[in-house]
Amino acid sequence: MWLRLLDFIYPALCEICETELQNGKSLCDSCRSDLPRVIPPFCERCGEPFEGAISETFQCPNCREIDFTFEFARASLSSSEDGRFLIHRFKYLRRFYLASELAELIREIFENDQRLGKITDAILIPVPLFWWRRQVRTANQALELARQLSKISNLPMMDALKRTRHTTTQTRLPRKIRLKNLRGAFTLRPKFNDELKGKTVFLIDDVFTTGSTAEECARILKKDGAVSQVIVLTALRG
Ligand SMILES: [Zn+2]
Ligand SMILES: [Zn+2]
Repeated sequence: MWLRLLDFIYPALCEICETELQNGKSLCDSCRSDLPRVIPPFCERCGEPFEGAISETFQCPNCREIDFTFEFARASLSSSEDGRFLIHRFKYLRRFYLASELAELIREIFENDQRLGKITDAILIPVPLFWWRRQVRTANQALELARQLSKISNLPMMDALKRTRHTTTQTRLPRKIRLKNLRGAFTLRPKFNDELKGKTVFLIDDVFTTGSTAEECARILKKDGAVSQVIVLTALRG
């Protein structure tokens, strides 16, 4: 309903180059294909792209020191001006009609990462927003992404995590302190306890930056939901 209403309010122009569009999309074909993707080589744990020629799988120096609770993270877009511009419009300017384009971009990961090709029974779970943030932004961008991705992938979506308190942006803080600040910021909604047991979860968010939020979500999902693996999928690598 919301998305349809927004479609109506905003004329169909390419979000990046403002060419008029007829097909109900929000990016023209050339802007969409020009968006820089994360392509190999990238770190097999955090998905950080690496400049240079490495043919075998590898972990970046950062990940060699960290033991993430989630199995690995993949982003569709690498950090570029246009990529960040799109996410900014989506997240902060509430252009939620971009959710379907961004979900399409996340779906590309299913096709180009062999590790995902084998998984057919995953459940999509969005990273939750604290309720008042959700009010301010009218919707949770990760939830919109997960909804759209569910539509095009036929994977079920469960809004299973709840954010119980707000945490400020903390990208500048050391990892240990970030993780400590996030402790207890999420809970699992009890009705999902049984449904998640032993399942694979695709944790959905717009951006993957330090991985701390994903780490805490994965910890709760594995501890309270007893899920077997958590794979983090985002539109952009921050
Ligand atoms: Zn365009
Ligand atoms: Zn890494």
